[in-house]
Amino acid sequence: MSDSLVNLLNFDAEAMAEFFTELGEKPFRATQMLKWIYQFGVSDFEQMTNFSKATREKLKTIAEVRVPEIIEQQESDDGTIKWLLQLEQGNAIETVFIPENDRGTLCVSSQIGCALECSFCSTAQQGFNRNLSTAEIIGQVWAANQAMKVMPRNQRVISNVVLMGMGEPLLNFNNVVAAMNIMMDDNAYGLSKRRVTISTSGVVPALERLKAVSDVALAVSLHATNDTLRNELVPINKKYPIRQLLNACKFYVQGEHKRKVTFEYVMLDGVNDKPQHARELARLLKDIPSKVNLIPFNPFPESRYNCSPDKVIETFRNILKQAGVISTTRKTRGDDIDAACGQLAGKVMDKTKRRFRRENTHVNIADIKNRQVNSGRSL
Ligand code: SAH
Repeated sequence: MSDSLVNLLNFDAEAMAEFFTELGEKPFRATQMLKWIYQFGVSDFEQMTNFSKATREKLKTIAEVRVPEIIEQQESDDGTIKWLLQLEQGNAIETVFIPENDRGTLCVSSQIGCALECSFCSTAQQGFNRNLSTAEIIGQVWAANQAMKVMPRNQRVISNVVLMGMGEPLLNFNNVVAAMNIMMDDNAYGLSKRRVTISTSGVVPALERLKAVSDVALAVSLHATNDTLRNELVPINKKYPIRQLLNACKFYVQGEHKRKVTFEYVMLDGVNDKPQHARELARLLKDIPSKVNLIPFNPFPESRYNCSPDKVIETFRNILKQAGVISTTRKTRGDDIDAACGQLAGKVMDKTKRRFRRENTHVNIADIKNRQVNSGRSL
């Protein structure tokens, strides 16, 4: 392992083919490499037996498959699993697996912390360090996949990936797009485009660019029906207000058969959960192929909101239904291990000086070291 070695996890199929061409190898070597890494979970060139000894030796001198190391694994009573992955300089990120009857969803992070300041999100309070590389994003899928292979109930399989962990994926555009390409590549994880979802708080110019390079499913964190309230909850709204955001959403699904935008709407008691908000929401979404995902607010230390009562959420849903808007209520999963939406904290060496809660970070590294640790290397 060295900084001068290129990490092959950074390459999607196109970049991998370029890499092998530059090495003077045939392009099909790229396909073989993708299969070794992602389908067989092999990171050691020595085990890649369909490469000649000479090629393996050459690879060792210039490249590596460096996967993130798991430093903690927690399992919730409901089967949700959360991993803490060690990165350099004391940073750590979190990745969550959510098993359901008909699918297994992996929720991956795209940045160390988050630079946006959504007032109801715990990641926001951790501050921001940097974008994750493609290797660190796809490495989360790799690490989770390998970890679950050796777990007792090993029927757990990743069928869906959502970019809903820490960070704003559209502010890390190129690396996120390359990682999603690998997720969908038949020689890697082969997930269908409907099973890879990018979630954004509304970075409009990046959303407009996305359509040209990817056709993954889109989720948008709307959370409010007027700009005054959204400015407060999702401050990036001051830059890209609701109307602009909805136009970009409409553009993203335009001409795409059956594609719908999922609008995420966190239910905050007394803030955005009144019948009038539900009616406004239905009006806003009238001509966008969409569905709404109501998310019960997950509290975290010092959060200044409460979750709307069940009855209020039900009433909100009924109003949407009567207005012809399809909605679901997201089941809270993994909250006993702080793995639910908005509870991911990891360990962020904040570079923005915006962090006002440093002493209260969710995850304390000293704590972790005392607990049973699970090293990625031994998996
Ligand atoms: N930055 C992206 C990706 C994060 S996704 C985005 O904003 O979409 C995480 C989802 O969980 C978002 O919809 C986010 O708004 C929501 N969320 C954040 N904090 C939450 C909390 N405390 N309770 C419930 N949902 C929350």
